[in-house]
Parts: sequence; C-alpha cells; structure tokens
Amino acid sequence: MSGSVQDLVLAGNAAAGLLQEIFVPEITNAEIECEACGSTAPVGTLHLHAAEMGAVLRCTSCDGILMRAVHTTHGRWLEMKGTRYLRF
Ligand SMILES: [Zn+2]
Repeated sequence: MSGSVQDLVLAGNAAAGLLQEIFVPEITNAEIECEACGSTAPVGTLHLHAAEMGAVLRCTSCDGILMRAVHTTHGRWLEMKGTRYLRF
C-alpha cells in the first residue's frame, strides 16, 4: 500500500450520498440515546417543548435536552449536544 492518510481526505461533498441516506428517513422512528442517562427511545416518544421559533425535545427518563431545532432567518439549526447517538 503506497497511499498516505492525506490520500483519504476528501471534500465533505463526497459524503453527500451517505448523509442523504441518514437524514431522509422518518425521523420519529429513529432510536435516540440520551448522553446523560443512557436511556434509548424512538424520537417520536420524546417530550416536546414547542415554541414559535422551534422545538426542544427532552428525554422521557431524566428530562435532559436531547435535541433543539429552530428555524430562523439565517437557516434551520439542529443542536444535539445531549444525544449520544441517533440510529435509523
Ligand atoms: Zn436521559
């Protein structure tokens, strides 16, 4: 094998197909794991705290914040700091 690690670095656009597969399926059926308590649940069963600008989804076991989604004039934002993983 003659290639170096640098040969494996590509532009993010090269991951478009994989990312498209991940973000297109029905999100409410995806399994989410809470970073704080380790519990897992379908996204559709989380507790929703809705506001005009967006939504906060909380863990049903520990009430930790798993997802924050907002729609602003600057775009759609999704923050998932409280999530260990999301599995489709
Ligand atoms: Zn939790």
